[in-house]
Amino acid sequence: MSYFSTRGGTVVTASQAILAGLAPNGGLYVPAMFPQVSRQWIAALAQIPYAKRAAAVLSLYLEDYTPQQIEEATAAAYSADRFDDPAIAPMRHLDSNTWLLELFHGPTLAFKDMALQLLPHLVRDAARKNGEQREISILVATSGDTGKAALEGFRDVPGTSCTVFYPKKGVSAVQQLQMTTTGGSNTRVIAVEGNFDDAQTGVKNLFASKEFADRMNASGRVLSSANSINFGRLVPQVVYYFSAYADLAASGAIACGELVNFVVPTGNFGDILAAWYAKNMGLPVHRLICASNRNNVLTDFFDTGIYSTHRVFFRTTSPSMDILVSSNLERLLYEIADRDGELVSVWMRQLKESGSYSIGDQRREELSKTFAAGCADDKQTAAEIAALYARTGCVVDTHTAVAARVLADYRYRTHDQTPAVVVSTASPYKFCADVLAALSGAESVAGLDAFACADKLEQLTGVPVPPQVRALRELPVRHTAVCAKDPASMADAVLA
Ligand SMILES: *Cc1c(COP(=O)(O)O)cnc(C)c1O
Repeated sequence: MSYFSTRGGTVVTASQAILAGLAPNGGLYVPAMFPQVSRQWIAALAQIPYAKRAAAVLSLYLEDYTPQQIEEATAAAYSADRFDDPAIAPMRHLDSNTWLLELFHGPTLAFKDMALQLLPHLVRDAARKNGEQREISILVATSGDTGKAALEGFRDVPGTSCTVFYPKKGVSAVQQLQMTTTGGSNTRVIAVEGNFDDAQTGVKNLFASKEFADRMNASGRVLSSANSINFGRLVPQVVYYFSAYADLAASGAIACGELVNFVVPTGNFGDILAAWYAKNMGLPVHRLICASNRNNVLTDFFDTGIYSTHRVFFRTTSPSMDILVSSNLERLLYEIADRDGELVSVWMRQLKESGSYSIGDQRREELSKTFAAGCADDKQTAAEIAALYARTGCVVDTHTAVAARVLADYRYRTHDQTPAVVVSTASPYKFCADVLAALSGAESVAGLDAFACADKLEQLTGVPVPPQVRALRELPVRHTAVCAKDPASMADAVLA
């Protein structure tokens, strides 16, 4: 299968798309078509372990990888010594027709591990296939979770290095410590004086800069991306939607072929885009519900057809979704523009030059057949954490709570009682101060550091503190670099 750029032009293989990250014209790589699967194919996934489910989906897309490479990569990525639940992506029943899909059982406690445990294997194989001798320098902009997941994935992987930029004041205490205590001889973590959009724009500018590429090349290095703009991030995320559905059908909760809704807490639009890819491949999905926090640019987009960044950026209790420019939306735009790369280029230019674009009423209506959207502010999110705990005994993180609240609003508004899966993207212990405050009041966290909050949350709920969080207490901080958000400073920081 070939891969195209969303802005037209380029045709590459899967391994080339994964190696490059971003297309030379600034577009994102997309598959030439969506492979189709049958109901029987989906149902059969329930009989095999997660690693094999992943191999089954990947082999439909990564045609220039051998079956053996895919088997080895998925077996290494989704193994019992890396994930603390044998199901890898377990389903948890919440109430009669609602489930949680738990994607935080990997080493860094957020759903980013689902792709970033696998990506380094795909990148190494891609480098070999394409005769790439230079060091693969992975550049990452993170809103908090991608950074640590990428660092863990690429740490000490021969022939690679990994540099992460995070917004200096935009991540939780646990997220920051997870990153700044990372070991490994090939990792670097740099705080940017700005927000996530500044970090992401800076990284995108480095990718687009010929001069920077030349400087990297002169030092024997070539850039690649571990952000969800890389197709290698997207395809592993398609897997868990099939996996969740197969598990539901096998348990008898739904009939195979019955429609379900997925509710996805959304920032860069990578996770929910993977759900949409799954639907296009034949997964029986009724609605995809896009859940945002107070940075509700996507809610407005689905409501009006206008994407506008003329708005205030808020820091919220769900920092991994504090994003105004959702990169992966471009892949959805490409499909609703009937794969017209010219039109996508126009929209993207308008976004860059004037901060907004409009897809028009007809396309908006088309999208609304599949997508619904909603948002929840910090207060609603906290209330949802408390309500869910009281009702089900389940402790969810702030991002998952945004999704649960948006689902409740959606059901109230539409009376749509289709079985729904809430995608649970992080362990509550990554955001333990806000989760504890939601459960026992703001005064209960006053003066406590993240570790004290974690201990208190464990005492209150009986959910054990994950060993990864406990370990942070003892680990030395190894990364203290800070840089300004202008392109020259970020370039120098990478090359330093
Ligand atoms: C990254 C992240 C999200 C948002 O996912 P996108 O693919 O960027 O839409 C939601 N929740 C958590 C915990 C995350 O780390």
